[in-house]
This record gives sequence, C-alpha cells and structure tokens, in this order.
Amino acid sequence: MGFKKFNLKPSLQEGIDAMQYTEPTPVQEQALPIILENKDLMGFAQTGTGKTAAFLIPILQKLDGKTKPGIKCLILVPTRELAQQIEVNLTGLGYFTSVSSQAVYGGNQGDLFSEQKNSITSGVDIIIATPGRFLQHLNLGYVKLDQVEMLVLDEADRMLDMGFVGDIMKISELLPKSKQTLFFSATMDGKIKQLASKLLKEPNEINLAIAKPAEGINQMAFMVYDEFKIPLLEHYLTNQEVKNMIVFASRKSQVDEVTRRLDRKGFSVVSMHSDRTQDERNEAIRLFKAGKYTILVATDIVSRGIDIDDLSHVVNYDIPNEAADYVHRIGRTARAGKNGAGVSFINVDDQVKWSYIEKLIEREIDKYLTPEEIGGSPTYNPEANKSYGGKKKYNNRRKNNNHRGKKGGSNNRNKGNHSNNRNRSKPNNKKSE
Ligand code: AMP
Repeated sequence: MGFKKFNLKPSLQEGIDAMQYTEPTPVQEQALPIILENKDLMGFAQTGTGKTAAFLIPILQKLDGKTKPGIKCLILVPTRELAQQIEVNLTGLGYFTSVSSQAVYGGNQGDLFSEQKNSITSGVDIIIATPGRFLQHLNLGYVKLDQVEMLVLDEADRMLDMGFVGDIMKISELLPKSKQTLFFSATMDGKIKQLASKLLKEPNEINLAIAKPAEGINQMAFMVYDEFKIPLLEHYLTNQEVKNMIVFASRKSQVDEVTRRLDRKGFSVVSMHSDRTQDERNEAIRLFKAGKYTILVATDIVSRGIDIDDLSHVVNYDIPNEAADYVHRIGRTARAGKNGAGVSFINVDDQVKWSYIEKLIEREIDKYLTPEEIGGSPTYNPEANKSYGGKKKYNNRRKNNNHRGKKGGSNNRNKGNHSNNRNRSKPNNKKSE
C-alpha cells in the first residue's frame, strides 16, 4: 500500500516515487495523519528515522496549489547543515509541486543575505532557518508572518542546548495564534518538555526514541589525540582479553591505515569498506564470523545491516556523527544477555558529538586518559569546543602525567530555489559514503 493510503496529491506522490520511498517509516506512519489533521505534534525521534519527510510530506500536501505569495511555513533548525539538508529533501519531495522554499542561515557572504532577503520579500512559501539569522531578517522589518500556518522545530533539544530558546520564543510570539506547531527532539528531559508545553496546544505525542544500550555492555571512553589512536588500540588489544572486535572508523583511508598497522604488528585483522567489491566484503564477513580473524575494521555505512553479533568488543575509533549510530554500533556486543565492551576514542574535535551521545543515553560514561607510555591526553571539555557555525581550535593541549588507566576529567542549496521547478535538479536519493 505504501504512501497511497494517505491519498496524497499526484504531484507530491510523484516526488515520493522519484525519491524511491516505497513504504513509510514508522515515524512517517504515525506523524502523517496527525499533521494532516492540523493537530500539534510532539515527536521524539532521531535523525535516521525518516523524520524529515514525516513533516515535509504533509506540509507539501497542505501547501501545494496555494497561489497567494507569502511565508506559510517556518522550519527552525539548530545548524546551517541541517537547514541545507532539509532543503535538499524538500526540493526532492516537492519537485513536482508548486511549493517554493528558501534556507536562511548565517554566514559572512553579503550576497547570501541579499539572496535570502529577496526570497523572503518575493513571497517564498517555506523558510528553513536558524533562529538567529531569521531574527536578523525580522528585525529589518520586511518579513511578513501573517500567513504562517505551520511552525516546525526540528532538533529542538539541540536548539535548546545552543541557547536559542529566547530567539525561538520571540519568533513564536510573532506568529499567528492559529498556527499548527510540530516539535521534534531526540531527547525528552524536563527542559525539553517545558519548552514544548509553552509552544504546543494539546499535542499528539509520538515516541520513537531508541532503546538505551543493553545493561551488559561495559561502556568506556579514552581521551586521545589523533596521533595516539593507533598506539592506544594496540595497547588495548595487548592488555585486554579480546575474543573478537569490530573497529568502526569514519573514513576509508583510516580503515586502511588501522588495518595495515595492526597487521604489521601481528594482529589478526581484516577490513571492509565501500571500495571493496561485494564478494570481497562477503568474504571478509564470512572469515570474521568463522573466527579466522579477530578484528574487523570497517566504516559505518558498509557495516550497517550486517548481521554480526556475539562480539566481545566494539571500538569507536571515531565518534559517529549521529548519536543513535553509537547505540547501534555498541549494540552489536552483549547480545542475548552476554557481556561485552564498547570502547570509544574521543579526540578534541569529537567532544561535542560525544556530549550528544551522553545526552541521548542519559548517562555519563567513564573517560580514561591515554596511558602515559603512549603520550598525553586532552581534557574532556565539550563546552570549550562548542561553537556555532564553525569549529573552535583547541589550544589547550597539555601533557597529562597521570598513570595509566587513571580516569580523565569526566565532568569534565541545493540553492534555496523559490522559483518553483524550473531550476531544480532532479531528485536523487542515492546515498554515497
Ligand atoms: P532523516 O531521519 O529524515 O534524516 O532520514 C534518513 C534517511 O532516510 C534519508 O536519507 C531519507 O532520504 C531516507 N528516507 C526517509 N523516508 C524514507 C522512506 N519512507 N523510505 C526510504 N528512505 C527514506
């Protein structure tokens, strides 16, 4: 039955088909009817669940064919990357509809600001904006909000974390009272509920929050500089009893490098990434599962969906971009009530991502220093690295002379194209690594 049961407009259904979405995901299954009935929604769902299309499809259904120019939907997001990603999705799904959109986010280029202003004043239908930049436009007096029917807050927990609550409240107060509000968050703590209660009217709630990691997983992390990651891994392998281990690295070049270095040191290791043929990948998995190799080094994308459980160890050589991926990764160990270890290497740049993981799993994980015979460790301090719109350099590198195993500080556009379809590129939902 797929999406047909929602009786979507043919132009929208065509976009969904072109994106090759055949079946709605659980969050779409639940969210679409609620949003189409104009009810407020509080959705707990992570990136990766299909939540973007869960709100974009009903929004497109409602706005397609409306001819009066003006902002009808405002989507607030924490980062420019998310704004761009949503706009790409919107361009794909809405390719055959009449709906126009513009992403509005910060940056120093003057022409970017003028382009955003032009779109806003010429009556674009949907704005996808970071709150700070949208307020800048609002303060200049040309943004008309009287036609806004829908407000979406995506990744509300992250916006709260980044200090956008004041901006969100200011914007929300300027919107028509009759608007429908859709609120998405990956976590559900007291502060999030408080913010939601201020913004939503008798919301329907859907909860697709992922399960917490199993109790049997011994989760731990090491604070480590990049150049010490391989020595640290070798040290760990030498000093711990490892039956079998998957090492997740984010780049193919790293997979190759780690594999080469471990192999040179005599460890039993095989690797897998997207440059390998399907036959080579299947063979690597077969040999690893059969116990011919102790260590499998792999990138995330390739290893998603492969059925390897009964692992004694999972190592996050890099911290995954999505907090939910952390849970998926370490969930490969400690299956069926057994014990296992999930070990994560946190470098300076990955601290903010790590803080989101701890928020998601609602637990602070013990952080250990890199053993002194290998080298110094960074001190855990995600706040120091948290900056909006760019990475802050971590200058505070210092040697820790603590003895091995001691705990480290654990407190420590697609261009916004509002001229409808003419300039849009064909929707393309191919994923690349
Ligand atoms: P999101 O959680 O919105 O970031 O979506 C995660 C990924 O799933 C994106 O690559 C989407 O294009 C894709 N996706 C969303 N909905 C569907 C669907 N119904 N069928 C297949 N893929 C989907």
